[in-house]
Amino acid sequence: MVSRSSIGASRHGELFWLCNARVPDSLLAPSDRAALPAAGKGLRSAHLCIADGRVRSLTAAQVPTEAPQFDLRDGVVTSAWVEAHTHLDKSHIGPRTGRDDNSLQEAIAVAGQDRAGWTEADLLHRMDFSLRAALAHGTRALRTHLDWTSAPPPLAWRVAQGLRNTWAGRIELQLSSICPLPLFADGPAGKAVAHAVAQGQGVLGASVHPMPGQRDLLARVFALARDTDLDLDFHVDEHLQDNTEGMRTIADLTLRHGMEGRVVCGHCCALGTLEAADLHVLLGRFAQAGIQMVSLPLANLQLQDRQPGRTPRLRGIAPLREAAAAGVPVSIASDNVRDPYVPYADLDLLQVLTVTALAAQLPDPIEQWISSITCEPARALRLDWDGILRPGCPADLVVLAGRSSHEICSRPQAARRVMRGGRWSESALPDYRELDV
Ligand SMILES: [Zn+2]
Repeated sequence: MVSRSSIGASRHGELFWLCNARVPDSLLAPSDRAALPAAGKGLRSAHLCIADGRVRSLTAAQVPTEAPQFDLRDGVVTSAWVEAHTHLDKSHIGPRTGRDDNSLQEAIAVAGQDRAGWTEADLLHRMDFSLRAALAHGTRALRTHLDWTSAPPPLAWRVAQGLRNTWAGRIELQLSSICPLPLFADGPAGKAVAHAVAQGQGVLGASVHPMPGQRDLLARVFALARDTDLDLDFHVDEHLQDNTEGMRTIADLTLRHGMEGRVVCGHCCALGTLEAADLHVLLGRFAQAGIQMVSLPLANLQLQDRQPGRTPRLRGIAPLREAAAAGVPVSIASDNVRDPYVPYADLDLLQVLTVTALAAQLPDPIEQWISSITCEPARALRLDWDGILRPGCPADLVVLAGRSSHEICSRPQAARRVMRGGRWSESALPDYRELDV
């Protein structure tokens, strides 16, 4: 593993090697996968040449002995994480709201009460803290949803736009509204939201669950997105009722408006209520519509099937394996962080992937599912780089101490080094005491 004393040796522009790395198959282009020797199930052995902030080559050939090099001793190297879905405006308000056992509806109410007291300084402090944690854990891009409950943009939207500028080059920040769907019943209000989102180069989002007039309201959202050339990102069917109308309608409208590849559906918990044949049909529709699914297991584990004093019987996670098998791109993301929804989280996608692997019985999370926190969210967010480790790609990497899921997911907290633009990152996790105000 790379020692701390060797960190200073990687200066920008210098050529050096990361030797004896293991790279997951799913992060390699087919030609590199074919050229590199297997190193156990789902991994390849490689030496990575880093120069000018980029990966110059991946090879199994002998590395020149005179070249500067770091011996990774078979540690796994991945592209840096991409966080497809969180809520920076609410992050870290949990301790001050006093309860960790809210239902989804209670969490919405408690967060709404807290929101009334948000100031620019409070938002800036908590959001910047969250971004520093994400950066230290290995995240290079992040989409945050921001509560948007009436026509004018919320304060958090302006604060987040400022952060998007100050964080450019460290974390690529994307902003999405999260509006209650009935807001779009008011034509002028809906137009004002879409216009402001477009002006802020954001993504239009809404929360969709069974309600009267749902289809008409969604049609309005899609019409606004088409008129203002906006991508869409929904919270949809985050419940365990036998009702998947929201997802069906979104798939239909995506196809009708030719928005394939521009629509993200988060949660999709209600897919778990479907019989296998019906599930197959709906997932096929998602795949046809190019819809990206984002699963938020920490929130769903915490909030679904919650009843006072009772252990949950249902776990509320969308059927991820079936979705992937049906050709639906699947991302796994954090959702809420230390707020009334999810009390324990830190924007660490390795932690999220590990918990998901156990809760959803995903085998070999690093070898088989690493794309769900790297390449798939990069595509869902339409980033310039898809996260595939190919010659010429940015040297934005996470270098893990472990050699496989068995080691990495058993000690997920700290055993990693982050490289950004070919330099070892010095970013450290912020201390929670900073939030004592
Ligand atoms: Zn969310």
